[in-house]
Parts: sequence; structure tokens; C-alpha cells
Amino acid sequence: MKLQEAYDIVVVGGGPGGAAAAITAARRGLSVLLIEKRQEIGTPVRCAEAIGRDQVAPFIALDPAWIAAEIDAFRIFGPSGQSVRVPPTSPTIVVERKIFDRELVNAAVRAGATARAMTRATGLIIEDGFVRGVKMISLGREETVRARVVIGADGPESQVGLWAGLSTMPRMADYYTAVQYLLAGIPLDDPRECQYHIGNDLAPGGYAWVFPKGPDKANVGLVITATHEKNGRSAQEYLDAFVERRFPGASVLALILGGIPVGGTVKELVGNGVMLVGDAAHQAEPITGGGINLAIFAGEMAASVAADAIAAGDWSKKALEAYPRRWHQEHGRAIKSMAALRHSVLKFSDERYDRLVALAAELPLAEMSVFDIILRVLRHDPGLLLAAREFLIPT
Ligand SMILES: Cc1cc2nc3c(=O)[nH]c(=O)nc-3n(C[C@H](O)[C@H](O)[C@H](O)COP(=O)(O)OP(=O)(O)OC[C@H]3O[C@@H](n4cnc5c(N)ncnc54)[C@H](O)[C@@H]3O)c2cc1C
Repeated sequence: MKLQEAYDIVVVGGGPGGAAAAITAARRGLSVLLIEKRQEIGTPVRCAEAIGRDQVAPFIALDPAWIAAEIDAFRIFGPSGQSVRVPPTSPTIVVERKIFDRELVNAAVRAGATARAMTRATGLIIEDGFVRGVKMISLGREETVRARVVIGADGPESQVGLWAGLSTMPRMADYYTAVQYLLAGIPLDDPRECQYHIGNDLAPGGYAWVFPKGPDKANVGLVITATHEKNGRSAQEYLDAFVERRFPGASVLALILGGIPVGGTVKELVGNGVMLVGDAAHQAEPITGGGINLAIFAGEMAASVAADAIAAGDWSKKALEAYPRRWHQEHGRAIKSMAALRHSVLKFSDERYDRLVALAAELPLAEMSVFDIILRVLRHDPGLLLAAREFLIPT
């Protein structure tokens, strides 16, 4: 049970980003410690649990134990109730994250990492401008563990970034407040279809969702832009109104509350001996707030770069900068554009949302990428084009 005094990599956080980093680093032959502050990895769940199946497959064998539903389509409802059915760009599943997250960390252990729950990072060891390890309370005892590289995968309330002097605080306008019920005993229109509902009265600066977890059970939740809570109505009050309308009499099996930073990747992803991944680095997709796959990509990327740096004997900020470079090339630029689009789209009137849905319904969606769909819809409506100009011309 005793921890080593030093590891090549210490990962703070046992979510998908941290697990992917630990798997990758351990597969590269590095010594890895992953710590998770919660009593049990995977709980409490703070997620609607929809992910791309093919994106997780390289990290964990698909297992019916954590696949709650296979999804054939997304349906987007405008404020007036008209809807459009959008096929997924890649196979999508709804998972049981409490099992999925635990099994992902288990995959890291199988690859050679050490994992420890009930272990909270409380600070970093910083010497000569370099992060050299982590201070923690592990199973009730104070410990310090040295590391060549610390990977902060500590989610939306990340402290690793703050401790390391990296700027990670989002603006309120770049933050979704999220609330979700796991509802049971509800008649689902289609248990293989994820629904999104948009409208300014329904979820100002956000949207509501119904993600099936079986024939009569679903994650039903809602995000609103955090600044809208100032108007006096909480996200939960908006969700209650939605549930009352759509699923009166439903049973509530769980309530979850959370926040998602959706303003685009933080400016500084790395420092001397430290890297940030996943929600800690604001790498979620800005419009939907979906971040599991992106956290996994980031964890894999960061750990690969850390492994190269350690092999070369230099894990300074300069050496670790290969990670932000790769991130921005593969995902960061698209996320930046989506963040700009979010600011335009979330200010649309209900009439304009309805027009968007009606236009989309006329397109051959099965043959088009998401980007093509957005461009085609925008081109059909000069007003929309103007409103979304920031998306088309990213700053
Ligand atoms: C309501 C809601 C619904 C969502 N639905 C979806 C969805 O359907 N699909 C999707 O892709 N994304 C969804 N997301 C976003 C998704 O949950 C996150 O983007 C994803 O979990 C990010 O993974 P991560 O590993 O970066 O962070 P997390 O999953 O948040 O993991 C961070 C971990 O770090 C631990 N930690 C924090 N501080 C410390 C510390 N000091 N010491 C040790 N451990 C620490 C935390 O306990 C946590 O386990 C949703 C989010 C919310 C709030």
C-alpha cells in the first residue's frame, strides 16, 4: 500500500482525461501514479454519458456492462416543437459512467500504473520554477510524491493549473451551469435517439437534452449560460418546468449538478514539469459541452509528449509545448471557432432557431459533415450568416 517516493508521471484526477493519460504513459513504460480525491472512481456521475464509441475503443475493450444504449440519431427540436433528425457522424453510445470511468482507470492499472482513490492533491512541490511533485492527503495521511511531470486532469474546478500559476479561470459567460435528473418510468419516443431541445424560455443560452438509458429511463438535463442565472431563475427551475411538461409523473433516480467551461482551451496548457488536460484545460466542445472524447484525446496527447520529453531528458515548458501545438492543430482551432459560434448562436431569437431547424430538415443530412451542415444552413439565411460571422472568420 505504500506509495513510491517518486514517479515519472503523477496524474491528478481519475476522470477520462486522467485515465487516458495514465494508460498512455504506462504503455510507454513510464512509472505512473494516478490519484483521485473521491471515495470511489466514477461516482458521483456528473454527465449525460453520451460518447463516440470508436474514440474510446483504443483505450478500453467495449463491454455491455457499461453500454446503456446505442444511438442511431440525434433529434433537434426548435422552440415551436418542429424537429430535425440528424444521423451521428460516428457511432454513439450512452454509457454508465460510474462503471466506464472505473474500468478506464483499471485499464491504466493493467498497463502498469498505480491508482489510488481517496487521495486528494492539496498542492504542488515547486522548486526553481519547476513543478517537482504533488502534496496530497492519501487515505487520511499527508504524503508528498515527487514526479518528473504532473498532469492536471482535475476537472472543471481544476486547482493544479492555479497552483502552477497557469491562468484557468473562465468568464461567467464562458461557463455552462448544468443540472440533470436520471428519470425512470418515462415513455421515450425512441430509445435509440438522443434529443436536444432549444428555446429561450426553455434554456436561455443553452439547451435541454433527453439521452436514453434503456426503453423507459433517460438522463434528462439542461445547461444554461451561467450569466443567465442572475435573472433569478436557477437551472434546476428551468429543468423542472421542462420535465413537468414532457414527463409528468416521472420518477427521479438521481440528481446531478455541475459546471462546464465552454469558452475554448485555456491559453497556457503547459508549464515547467506540468500539463493540463480535459475540463481542467477547458477542452470541452463549446456548444454541446461534450468533453469525454476530447479529454481522452488530450490525455493521450499530453502523456505521449511527456514520454518523449522524459526520454530526451528535458521536461521544461519549452519541451512540453509540443502538446499545445498538436492540440491546436488537431482540435484547438475547431474548438476556438465553435466557441465563437456559440456566442452568436446562443443569442438567436426563437424565430431564428425555428428557421434553422426548418432549413436543416430540408438538407440531405446523412451525406454531410457537421461543418457542411452548419455552412449550408448559414448560407441559406443571410441574417444567420451575419450573426455567425465570428465562426466563419475566427479571430
Ligand atoms: C451535466 C453534465 C452532462 C454532461 N454530459 C456529457 C455528455 O453526454 N458527453 C460528453 O462527452 N461530455 C459530457 N459532459 C462533460 C464531461 O463530463 C466532461 O467534459 C468530462 O468528464 C471531462 O473529463 P475530465 O477527465 O477532464 O474531468 P472529470 O471527468 O471531471 O474528472 C476530473 C476528476 O478529477 C478529480 N479531482 C478533482 N480535484 C482533485 C484533486 N485535488 N485531487 C485528486 N482528484 C481530483 C475529480 O474528483 C474527478 O474525478 C457533461 C458534463 C456535465 C456537468
